[in-house]
Order: sequence, then C-alpha cells, then structure tokens
Amino acid sequence: MASLLPLLFFFFFASPSLVNATSINRDLYHSSADLLEQIKALVHRHPDKLTAETIKTGNKGYKAEITVVTYCRSRKETDDRSKFRILLSFGQHGRELITTELAFRILSVLSEEQFLPDVDAASLNNTLDKLIVKVVPMENLNGRKLVEEGDLCERRNGRGVDLNRNWSIDWGKKEKDYDPYEENPGTGPFSEPETQIMRKLALTFDPHIWVNVHSGMEALFMPYDHRNTTPDGVLSERMRSLLGKLNNVHCHKHCMIGSGGGSVGYLAHGTATDFMYDIVKVPMAFTFEIYGDTAASSKDCFKMFNPVDLTTFNRVLNDWSSAFFTIFKLGPLQLDGNHSKAMASGVDRFVSIDEYLDGYLMERRNRYGKKMEVLDVGMQEIRTYFRLFLLSSVLLLFMFCSRIAKGKSSRPIVSALSI
Ligand SMILES: [Zn+2]
Repeated sequence: MASLLPLLFFFFFASPSLVNATSINRDLYHSSADLLEQIKALVHRHPDKLTAETIKTGNKGYKAEITVVTYCRSRKETDDRSKFRILLSFGQHGRELITTELAFRILSVLSEEQFLPDVDAASLNNTLDKLIVKVVPMENLNGRKLVEEGDLCERRNGRGVDLNRNWSIDWGKKEKDYDPYEENPGTGPFSEPETQIMRKLALTFDPHIWVNVHSGMEALFMPYDHRNTTPDGVLSERMRSLLGKLNNVHCHKHCMIGSGGGSVGYLAHGTATDFMYDIVKVPMAFTFEIYGDTAASSKDCFKMFNPVDLTTFNRVLNDWSSAFFTIFKLGPLQLDGNHSKAMASGVDRFVSIDEYLDGYLMERRNRYGKKMEVLDVGMQEIRTYFRLFLLSSVLLLFMFCSRIAKGKSSRPIVSALSI
C-alpha cells in the first residue's frame, strides 16, 4: 500500500486531466461538425448573399479540408474586381474554440439573422454593398477534432504541425525557447495541406484586408511576427491608425497594439500574416487575439483560451463582431478604394517560381484527385527537378549561342560588305 502512495500522488498532482482542467462547455460551444453544419444551413437559407465551398487536398496519407464561405450582397458580383476584398480566418489553432464561434456570429450578422446594437440597417447595407468577404470559419478542422477528443491543449494540425509556422517568411528559424509541441513548423514551408489551401485562396482572391483570428490574449497585431519591428511607410501608418480606432471603440483601450514580434513577447517565424503582407502584398494584414485568461493555470488550456461563462462568452462575441463591422466600414475608407492595393501589389508583386509551382501542382491534384497521387513524392523533389530542368535549358542555350557566335566570327568580314 505504501508503495502505491507516490504513484497516487503523481497522478493527482501531475496529470493535467486531474488539475481541475475545465472541459468544453457544450452549452456555449458548438462541436466542429455542428458548427460547420449550422454554417452550411445558413448559407443554404441565404443563397442571395452567401456561397460555400469545401476545398480538399492532402499528401503522404494525410488529408485536410477547409470550408470557405463567401459573402457578397449581390451574389452575381463575386468576381467583381472593383469590390473591396476581405479575407478572414478563424480556428487556425485547434484549442481556440471561441474564434470559430465568432466566425459563425459574423456570418449570422452578414446574413441579417442577427443584429449589432447601434448600427442602422441602411448604413450597414451601404457599407456591405462595396465588399466581398471570404470567411474561413475553421482553418484547422483536424486539430480541432483532436481537441474535441480530449486533447484540450492541442494547437497544431492533425499531424502535429503548427499551421502558423508553416509559411515561407523566415520559415524554420527556432528561438531559444522553441517547443516542438507548440511550434513545430513542418518539414518545409507549405508542407501542410491546410497551409497550401490558404495560400492558394489568398493568391487568387488577392484581398485588401487579411485578419488571422486567434485567442490567448487581447491584442491587435500587425506585421511583423518574425521581427520586433513594424514595416516602414504609409501602409504601416494606416494599419496602426485603424488598430488604434478599434482599440478605442471595441477593446476598451486595453488591447496590445503593434508588431506581433515586438509585442507578444516572442518572435514567430513562418507566420501567415507576415506572408500575406510580404508576398501576397495585402496592404492591411492583421492578427487579432480576441480573448485570454492570463490568470488560468497553464494546464487548464480550455480556460486559458476560451471564455467559460455565458456573460463573458457573449461579451467577447458582441465586442469582436462589432469590431469586424467597423473594419468593414473603415477599411475601404482607410485604403481609398483600390488605389492602395494597386500601389502595394502592382509592379513589385512577386510570386516566386516555388509559389507558382506549388499552386499549379495543387490545382492539378485537385482536378485529377487520386490519379495525381504520384505527386506525393513531395513538392521539394518536384521543385528540385524543375530547377535542374531550367538550369540545363539555360546551359544548352548558352552552348548553342556560343557556337553560333564562333561560326559568325570565322566568316570573312568582307563578305558582309560585298554589296
Ligand atoms: Zn493561436
């Protein structure tokens, strides 16, 4: 019996499940399956405004799917490039359930099934007429399922990769306090199907505003995450000015504002927002942290990242859905129509051969489904072959040209002057 005591002691104090860890409050939170079903039902009830598509891909036996909902008041105009485009992503980290509830709330307000206090319908419609909003309500469905199965601290995807470290800007750099259980960046940039889908979505939609919505603290971040500075120039000032207004109106002035890397207390490498700003040239790229309980035990993940009582749950959803509608209103004013987007993404827009090739290969794979599984040898290998092919073509061309030059130089000069 005495030998059992240390064992009991260990289980009582060391096992996270016994340290009063809060479980998911099912009265407040939808399951992932229910939430996606409710969102699809909402889309079905409002075919004039909403459309939904589910994009699937995978590699090395791992499959992922992402549902994307598009809002456009007159649905026929979803391809209208004169509209102001906004891309929002929620639930990139599995354990941050509150963010996916916010996605549902925003879609409910957009479809006029729920309403914001103090906003009149005429001015709201006037704002929304100018927009196309794409909402990714649950970027990391596989990770979310792990959380629902009881792994309440899981933030990574279904095979242990942090989707907010899998992008190409400063990918793979590890800080001293690097923890693979939190920040595993994957085997290479865009190794994960979820990140591939999001990148393709961003490059084709080409948004004016991107917001990556997280929880764990209350903050309004702008680039950069991988440095402790913000970018220079007018866009940076505009981002900061918009965040200042949001902080005053919706965040009770206590949200942290600034570069992610400079404010959060650690540098993050390979994040989505840095990629959106630097490569997709999204003029206003943000990461919002909408809720955090810093007093909660670090073993009580559900409580750290999500409100656990109805009052706080409703307050967070009300405050932040209002904040997003302020962005919908001020964003186009702040950027002065399409001009700034052209300025940011015009001639200097650069998509590397790797970006292009990955997007192309993924499109082919989507089109041909299983037949293209052969491509699962991996993007890295295909890139290498492609580079070798380019290199050998250049070499051949060079040899060909030098032969012609030799031939010409051996010809007598007088012949060229004969007439
Ligand atoms: Zn997060």
